[in-house]
Amino acid sequence: MDESQSLRFVISGTGKGKGIYADMHCHTTCSDGTLTPQKIIQLAVKTGLKGLSITDHDTIDAYATAIPAAKEQGINLLPGVEFSAKYRETSVHILAYAFSVDNPIIQEFCQQHKMRRNRRILAILKRLETQGMKITEEDLPSHQGSRGRPHIALAMQNKGYVRTIQEAFRNYLSEGQCCFVPGDEFSVEETLNTIHAAKGIAILAHPQLIKRQSRVKQLLQMPFDGLEGYYAKFPLHIEKRWVDIATQKKWIITGGSDFHGDYKEHITLGCSWVPEETFRILENHHKQNQKN
Ligand code: AMP
Ligand code: FE
Ligand code: FE
Ligand code: ZN
Repeated sequence: MDESQSLRFVISGTGKGKGIYADMHCHTTCSDGTLTPQKIIQLAVKTGLKGLSITDHDTIDAYATAIPAAKEQGINLLPGVEFSAKYRETSVHILAYAFSVDNPIIQEFCQQHKMRRNRRILAILKRLETQGMKITEEDLPSHQGSRGRPHIALAMQNKGYVRTIQEAFRNYLSEGQCCFVPGDEFSVEETLNTIHAAKGIAILAHPQLIKRQSRVKQLLQMPFDGLEGYYAKFPLHIEKRWVDIATQKKWIITGGSDFHGDYKEHITLGCSWVPEETFRILENHHKQNQKN
């Protein structure tokens, strides 16, 4: 996108360092987090964050209640979402920011993901049944939003098929395990085109997690506007690699915790973050979108 040229990189950070302003990556009960949008805003304020982006998987439903809650609590909220995508059998997560939550292109894309996810859930439940684990849709946490594997893992734990959510992923639900179903995911290209058509900013999420380095190399040639250099509790020496790459490309560098509440107990809100300067760049982009 043309605007990417004007997106200056700035240094973000990890930990409780100086300059902490906003956590740009977290999940609510609208996807696979355990806090409601209102509760996560309250927690962000309590943590001392001045800005936040809620980035649920494939849905922006949280913003209906998060926007009024953020106004009330006096925290700057920037629209965001984390899209699941596929690049040559590799699962890739793409963060989109700064679009208008009223944008029909984003809304329609989220709707298509919702249907895709529901089809996939049913396919996974079928596989589990062949392994002697009967789980019905009623066993999943009651949920209107974006449903995913963590909800199935919790149901498996509740029914006593596994002791922990980790065990459910390790033995059954992770890529390569017997009950993994990829689902008909959108490609990275389609996702980037959609985000840019909606005038959003597209960020390669947690590149630290992509194992095949040949895929990473190919992804870095694609028209992202930035990458998530600071992620969860990764140590700074690993993050440096990504910061260096983004700096060289003049890409924006974002950072966030990927907080999921009880689904990822060891991750706290604000453990990775961006400084005010990064947040303002994204916020200005959002303001432009609100004018158009
Ligand atoms: P899905 O969106 O249905 O593909 O599920 C992916 C989500 O599952 C991720 O965003 C994480 O929240 C969660 N997840 C993936 N791997 C694990 C794991 N090993 N343990 C716990 N949660 C996991
Ligand atoms: Fe998740
Ligand atoms: Fe992710
Ligand atoms: Zn996430």
